[in-house]
Amino acid sequence: MTLEGTNTYLHGADPCVVIDPGSDDLGHLEAIRAAAAERGGIGLVLLTHSHADHTAGADQLEAEVVLPSGGESHAGLRVLATPGHAADHVCFLSETGVCFAGDLVLGLGSTIVPPGGGSLAAYMDSLALLQAEPIDLICPGHGPWITDPTAKLAEYVGHRGTRERRLLAALDSGERSRAALLADAWSDVPVELLPMAAMAMEAHLEKLEDEGRLADGLVE
Ligand SMILES: [Zn+2]
Repeated sequence: MTLEGTNTYLHGADPCVVIDPGSDDLGHLEAIRAAAAERGGIGLVLLTHSHADHTAGADQLEAEVVLPSGGESHAGLRVLATPGHAADHVCFLSETGVCFAGDLVLGLGSTIVPPGGGSLAAYMDSLALLQAEPIDLICPGHGPWITDPTAKLAEYVGHRGTRERRLLAALDSGERSRAALLADAWSDVPVELLPMAAMAMEAHLEKLEDEGRLADGLVE
């Protein structure tokens, strides 16, 4: 519903479901109410995860708000637990092959697995879970719709696999300082994106550590 910021989706009718209300901006909430009125009102507000940019307006829509844990269905939408970007992240699958993916996959750029609350290992498992589902369209929490889910998911998985291999190669060469590892494994990243890359690297290092593949630790 918003061109920038978080996408809000209405699903079904009589009444409809609102997925990720997003901002509590009054104009945005009014637009949701007006669009929902044409679909018989709001029966339920569903959240993909608890980050404020997806949830801030939820309590002002005068309907029950649910962040499901996964495995169940709500209003014809199957809930898949997809932790990684956030521990409580879920995706919603419609019977017609539409996936409301929150921040698991984005229409533009790349999803962040933030330190503290995020987990790259869980994130990779969640991508694999989605790859096993019959999905024709991904409606992401940010950016345009993804009309080729198979290619996009493969790109996401491939991208992270490539980074992990580069990071492991740098570690294998004996490199143990974060600055040098970043410069090596993320050498193609423009300087203004290095803070993001450093966050991504932390998520990769945490995964390798958990898997017992970070042999002798790091120096700062
Ligand atoms: Zn988020």
